Amino acid sequence: MTRAILVVDVQNDFCPGGSLPVDGGDEVASTITDYLSSPAADGYRMVVATMDWHPDTDTDPGFAHFAAEPDFVDTWPAHCVAGSKGAELHPNLSLPDDSIIVRKGQRAAAYSGFEGHDSQGRSLWQVLRDRGINQLDVVGLATDHCVTATAIDGKALGYDVRVLLAATAGIAAETTDRAVARMRDLGIEALDRLPARA
Ligand SMILES: [Zn+2]
Repeated sequence: MTRAILVVDVQNDFCPGGSLPVDGGDEVASTITDYLSSPAADGYRMVVATMDWHPDTDTDPGFAHFAAEPDFVDTWPAHCVAGSKGAELHPNLSLPDDSIIVRKGQRAAAYSGFEGHDSQGRSLWQVLRDRGINQLDVVGLATDHCVTATAIDGKALGYDVRVLLAATAGIAAETTDRAVARMRDLGIEALDRLPARA
């Protein structure tokens, strides 16, 4: 197997109680934890978790991803400021010790995990290449934004991509339906149930 699982942005700010919450985000965190500790996950060669990791607008007022009156299309309430509690992975999420963390959004919005880098400065693409990965499963938050952007970039880079919808949650039903349709049009498999084997 050369499949990796990408756990997208399961951070406090995207869960109930956070600054940009997704309904059920905390339950998604638990679902991913259970799935990763089940025999189904034995088939993954690696686990990569992405984290939105933004500058503080007090020190970087030009950061255009945030707005006091956000439009929820291009601008958003401040979220996942580097080093803040809101940027931490949700406590319901536990990852294998050898998981790789990829942070994104230090300079631009970065909806896709492929815009991020690990602690050694490797891009996500390099991280995956170094382990010979050619198949990706994508889970996490939010289905209609960063999950879709990551899946679409992965597909464009030539990976065989599946999105495990049971381990994702979206901000709004309409944009989530549209995102899932778009992914399917692009040849990304969107599975309603978690696979019994990775
Ligand atoms: Zn963001």
